[in-house]
Amino acid sequence: MTGFAHTVEFMWAPYNVYMLRSSPVNADLHCHSIVSDGTLAPAELAARAHAHGVDLWALTDHDEVGGLAEAQRAADALGLRFVSGVEISVSFAAQTVHIVALGVRPNSTELLDGLQHIRTGRDQRAKDMAQDLERHLGLTQVYDGALRYAGNPALLSRTHFARYLVEQGVCRQTHEVFSRFLTPGKPGYVEHAWARMDEALGWITAANGVAVIAHPGRYRFSATEEWALLEQFKALGGQAIEVVTGSHTASQYRKYANLALEFGFYASRGSDFHSPGESVCDLGRLPPLPADLAPVWDLLH
Ligand code: AMP
Ligand code: MN
Ligand code: MN
Ligand code: MN
Repeated sequence: MTGFAHTVEFMWAPYNVYMLRSSPVNADLHCHSIVSDGTLAPAELAARAHAHGVDLWALTDHDEVGGLAEAQRAADALGLRFVSGVEISVSFAAQTVHIVALGVRPNSTELLDGLQHIRTGRDQRAKDMAQDLERHLGLTQVYDGALRYAGNPALLSRTHFARYLVEQGVCRQTHEVFSRFLTPGKPGYVEHAWARMDEALGWITAANGVAVIAHPGRYRFSATEEWALLEQFKALGGQAIEVVTGSHTASQYRKYANLALEFGFYASRGSDFHSPGESVCDLGRLPPLPADLAPVWDLLH
């Protein structure tokens, strides 16, 4: 076998013999639309995923499931297999950790109420971020400027501030904004309490979803803290981690493949695509999962 994870399908063969044929899955189970901090509509993402050869696709907007119906309709029209998802913001050991939920029932009351609760803090946080940026940069109207970039005013995020600072000529690219602003210790960063890990896992379980730790290589945890994250997540019913994602290096693919094997986690693959002009990794353009891992889509039927 090559590096691709395989699905198995039965083919009707001559002489009434079933033969096994395996085919690679180009799964992309993490991306964002204008409903959170992406720049494309859900239907545009579906078309882009399809054009890039994706055959199993999830939309995973931050803390919001409002784009799933459009995404599902567009995927159905293209014959693209779709998975309902959401990326939940969680506070863990004084950092923000993202938990991707896959295969959720989008109308689950527990999930909808939980997400609504997380979103409520965003507006005040955005006002505080704007004030801090104005003080440091001598700009005005930063809140309104960021809001102009938000497709969904209930989901004003750091990405929208980053786009506004690029517009204002403070930085050339959004990546540069995140190295100089909006991150811990830098201007524009505001501490925020998101959901607790146990709350998020409870909502995901109630919505029949599979919980996945998003981009584990991006957190700034010590090895001990990272181990505690994986252990607690597993104890609360978490089943998978992202191994191949747009923000991991090749050595991180191997590191998190090994941790997946050690913890018995299923492995996920997702670009975390946000925008054609910004995202390094486009939809469907990722290396395959290492072959020794159990793909998370085995759980998504
Ligand atoms: P928020 O939920 O408002 O804290 O915004 C988080 C979003 O900011 C992430 O989902 C990313 O889209 C973006 N972001 C965070 N750090 C970076 C970074 N270093 N480079 C680019 N985008 C980033
Ligand atoms: Mn984002
Ligand atoms: Mn994330
Ligand atoms: Mn994401």
